[in-house]
Amino acid sequence: MNSSPPSANTPLVLVVEDEPGIANILAAYLERDGLRSRLAQDGLEAVQLFRQLRPDLVLLDIHLPGIDGIDVLRAIRDDGQTPVIMVTALADDVDKLLALRLGADDYVVKPFNPPEVVARIRAVLRRTHAAPSSAPAPLRVGPIEIDTEAHSAAVYGEDGRAIALALTLTEFRLLACLAAQPRRCFSRAHLIEHCLPESEALERVIDSHLSKLRRKLQLAGQDGLIETVRGIGYRLWPWD
Ligand code: CA
Repeated sequence: MNSSPPSANTPLVLVVEDEPGIANILAAYLERDGLRSRLAQDGLEAVQLFRQLRPDLVLLDIHLPGIDGIDVLRAIRDDGQTPVIMVTALADDVDKLLALRLGADDYVVKPFNPPEVVARIRAVLRRTHAAPSSAPAPLRVGPIEIDTEAHSAAVYGEDGRAIALALTLTEFRLLACLAAQPRRCFSRAHLIEHCLPESEALERVIDSHLSKLRRKLQLAGQDGLIETVRGIGYRLWPWD
């Protein structure tokens, strides 16, 4: 099935999985889909390889020997916004929600269907490496500036200084969605449909992402920019 050899432009997926059988199946499917992969078999190796290889995406099992996947996710998030898809067992709802609050971009549940995992990886990579076909100017709404090409956002203080916001992919998409139509009130259902991976379709997950986004705006000196509209959802405070 290998059509062409992988090049340096081929996205690199760091697979963190302590069960060799599962790891090998994933590696085979990733390769078949034209992606490069490297394997880490425990949490410590995962953090080391992440820092060394700078992968385009991390597929991260929660239950690992040594440092668990949640701590690996924290280490990755301390380091930036590399997309992370968590892998969890069926009964680990609490872990999944915790992972999402910590900034995972998606999760898959074991036992999984490898082609579906590859499809999820492709979807997250598409969102994070959007083709630079047309490069719109950064969007400026009130004190917020959003660059959808660079996936970066900043707020401008009274003194005109920009403070970069360290947002997860989901928080970024939520902010960009609200800012695209600042007067519009978005229902949670709309935000879920447009900003969250399919698997996150829980209203309380939206609330959790938005409360983290608010906290980050607050830390950057901007309080009250996102308004809760009772019974409907959220909107960015309108500016004239
Ligand atoms: Ca495991």
